[in-house]
Amino acid sequence: MYVVCADHLEEAIDEFVDIYETPPDLYELESVSFTDWSAPSHCTFCNKPPIYLVV
Ligand SMILES: [Zn+2]
Repeated sequence: MYVVCADHLEEAIDEFVDIYETPPDLYELESVSFTDWSAPSHCTFCNKPPIYLVV
């Protein structure tokens, strides 16, 4: 699972496909909520606020 800013969306997708060999599902963090999970405060690859969830 990757939580990324707009700048790193493609990088996260590339890595995901490399590892899992299947395209990820993309969600906008604002439009999803999980009862037992709170989104990290920054992107997986940098310190910007994350926008997308790649799973
Ligand atoms: Zn980033």
